[in-house]
Amino acid sequence: MEFEILAKALDELGRISSRIALTNTLVDLFKITPREEIRKVVYLLQGRLWPDWKGLPELGVAEKLLIKAISMATNIREEEVDARFKESGDLGKVAEYLKTVKPKGGGGLLQFIGGGEKEKLTVTKVYESLVKIATAEGEGSRDLKLRILSALIKEATPIEARYIVRFVEGRLRINIGDATIMDALAIAYGGSKNARLFIERAYNLRADLGDIAEQLAYHGLEYLKNITPTFGIPIRPMLAERHRDPKEMLEKVGGRAYVEYKYDGERAQIHYSENEVQIFSRRLENITHQYPDVVEAIRGSISAKEAIVEGEIVPFDPDSGEMRPFQILMTRKRKHEIHKAMKEVPVKVFLFDILYVDGKDLTNEILPKRREILEKVVKPNERVEIAKYIVAETPEELEKFFLEAISNGAEGVMVKSISEKSIYQAGNRGWLWIKYKRDYKSEMTDSVDLVVVGAFYGKGKRAGKLSTLLLAGYDDNEDVYRTVCKVGTGFTDEELERMTAELKELAIDHKDPMVESDIEPDVWVRPTKVAEVIGAELTLSPLHSCARDTLAPGTGISIRFPRFIRWREDKNPEDATTCKELVEMYRQQLKKLEEEPTEPAETGEP
Ligand code: ATP
Repeated sequence: MEFEILAKALDELGRISSRIALTNTLVDLFKITPREEIRKVVYLLQGRLWPDWKGLPELGVAEKLLIKAISMATNIREEEVDARFKESGDLGKVAEYLKTVKPKGGGGLLQFIGGGEKEKLTVTKVYESLVKIATAEGEGSRDLKLRILSALIKEATPIEARYIVRFVEGRLRINIGDATIMDALAIAYGGSKNARLFIERAYNLRADLGDIAEQLAYHGLEYLKNITPTFGIPIRPMLAERHRDPKEMLEKVGGRAYVEYKYDGERAQIHYSENEVQIFSRRLENITHQYPDVVEAIRGSISAKEAIVEGEIVPFDPDSGEMRPFQILMTRKRKHEIHKAMKEVPVKVFLFDILYVDGKDLTNEILPKRREILEKVVKPNERVEIAKYIVAETPEELEKFFLEAISNGAEGVMVKSISEKSIYQAGNRGWLWIKYKRDYKSEMTDSVDLVVVGAFYGKGKRAGKLSTLLLAGYDDNEDVYRTVCKVGTGFTDEELERMTAELKELAIDHKDPMVESDIEPDVWVRPTKVAEVIGAELTLSPLHSCARDTLAPGTGISIRFPRFIRWREDKNPEDATTCKELVEMYRQQLKKLEEEPTEPAETGEP
């Protein structure tokens, strides 16, 4: 397919905002996309060349190199390209414009426009060139990247140049997420929006939307319905709701439940085969290299040909056998010194689920069945254990176990349904799992994870530094980010330095199309970074757009006295706390206040 068709669709997608119109544009695009190219089209729409978990290189083209490539391709001096970029803030538009003008001092008159006699760029050609750019490494790779990129821009029509440049910059400026792509795939290939359910389920079991689209295009919906998890392709994790009332928690799961330690470490989805072990993080990055000791320990503990298990990797003290604070796991991120870090920070993995074994998809089995299989397949050793749990029927049992868990270094407990409905809901947050954490003394009982959408410069000592963040929650219905609060406390001086530099990298010259905000920050940023924040309480606010009109007309939800806790590098922006969850937290807070108007929270600290 001609790349220009995709470029024109991207142009349209950038100009519309209604979800229906976006979906329709995508449907039209998918309908004319040949099936050999659908995988590539989906990746390009996602702004990537392959799923992140493959751990393959990124494009690695710095702004300067991109400017040089545009200059070479258009015969316009680098200084001029740079000046135009500074003026407009959109390098894609600059490239597009320069492709339409005649270079000073000769050059073919509008030689590349329309491309009449020239061969047209195809999606495959563009994709393959981008892959070559990403995978070029070692000596001479910078020149190679430059050559390929300038040749590509040279061959491109103006609108194609705009999108090639934007893609390389990592800023497509379109208003769609995976949800909209799945809707469109359902209509284009599955007959109607009803097919979305099956596409989503397949995507949840194999987190590769390009691959799912290709399977759908080649084999149809029936094939997709029977898809199972596969070794090496991560499953999107099941997530928990939160609550603080043991009695209500038990009611929500039907009276009886597994209550498990909620370990405080790093979530790990471990793919085991006789020849290889791979570990994926909460956000599905391949983190195998950080945990050679876990790989070893798992090898010695699983008796099956292939299995996918889930657990939490926790730092622990081999001398005392006690768990240690999760923060020290950070040393495991240093790639070069992993063997040193392994000694300094020994870890243990506590397994709590099994999703697949020897060709069998277990995600549709109920939790007690999965636990039974887990206990059969896993033989605990020094570094591998099954998560500690009880079957609880009364709030008192639950509370007692919760206090025990905390005194043993856990963060709280997970209350899990063991009913007939208790399947593994990959990629979904629901009431089959409920988290019950310890921070119940403050009014705001749990921290929230919010997305940075803008920033403000500080004053006085902080002048020149981006020291206050504008944060947003995720509205998963509309696939947009809506503001919740500004946060300017909790940062160390060191953090402020780092943050300013990082935010400047992410700065954009106008509000991102996926952001809804009435507040105008000094600097808009692309919604990519997630910050964990806690405050005194949740409040209603007319200034913020998160859940506006849901709790009271004209007001949204906000946080009073918010404080930055830490960055959540392990979360994607869509994993941020949703506006719906904030509403639920607010309602629970109100209820608690109504029940105990003058008393502090009833559940005491251990
Ligand atoms: P979420 O993952 O729900 O978006 P979060 O990343 O802030 O939120 P938490 O609120 O700490 O995480 O709770 C969920 C996490 O608890 C899981 O992702 C998992 O890493 C961890 N966990 C620890 N023990 C268990 C357990 N027994 N069962 C399930 N998850 C557990």
